[in-house]
Amino acid sequence: MRVLWTPLSKPWAPPSADAELCCGTMAAQLEFTCTQHADPFECGDNLLVYNEVLDEYGLIVHDGGPSYVLIAHCPWCGTRLPESQRDRWFDETEAKGFTDDTLPLEYLTGEWRRRSR
Ligand SMILES: [Zn+2]
Ligand SMILES: [Zn+2]
Repeated sequence: MRVLWTPLSKPWAPPSADAELCCGTMAAQLEFTCTQHADPFECGDNLLVYNEVLDEYGLIVHDGGPSYVLIAHCPWCGTRLPESQRDRWFDETEAKGFTDDTLPLEYLTGEWRRRSR
């Protein structure tokens, strides 16, 4: 399934120390550094993103926008990746009436899903 990077107000950042990654190759891939591109979506050498807010992994679609195709397993070690919390994120933020401008900080990190687990 192809999805859009969300929340849009949250700029891409490498995984935090709280993120549990399956293997070293995955970790290395997500440590995106490129001298020519600040944004991983703009870099043709970059394959993968991890959206820590939603706990989902994706293969970048290089069409100029911040979209990616969700993957269920690590391409390198085969580990089953966590289930995306995308639907839950939208349900929760909508139920609470948050807009992009009023989103509390916890909804811009993995914090919101960690506390309610
Ligand atoms: Zn892996
Ligand atoms: Zn690049």
